[in-house]
Amino acid sequence: MSTVRVEADRESCISAGRCMAANSSVFDQDDDGIVVVRTTHPAPEHRDSVRKAAYLCPAGAITLRSAP
Ligand code: SF4
Repeated sequence: MSTVRVEADRESCISAGRCMAANSSVFDQDDDGIVVVRTTHPAPEHRDSVRKAAYLCPAGAITLRSAP
């Protein structure tokens, strides 16, 4: 069964925080507000909100990939 791998480009992140608002189990922010991915392989129940986070990110900093 395939899973989703989450990647976040910390260089592109502008600290908007929408990812964390969408799913605080998968996304966090460091002291400067830059995204931190808590888990690169979110559980199935988190996939919709992770997709929402990627869609909402104004910097396009979140990438979702299929992982075997
Ligand atoms: S939504 Fe995008 S820009 Fe905002 S903190 Fe998350 S990764 Fe950074």
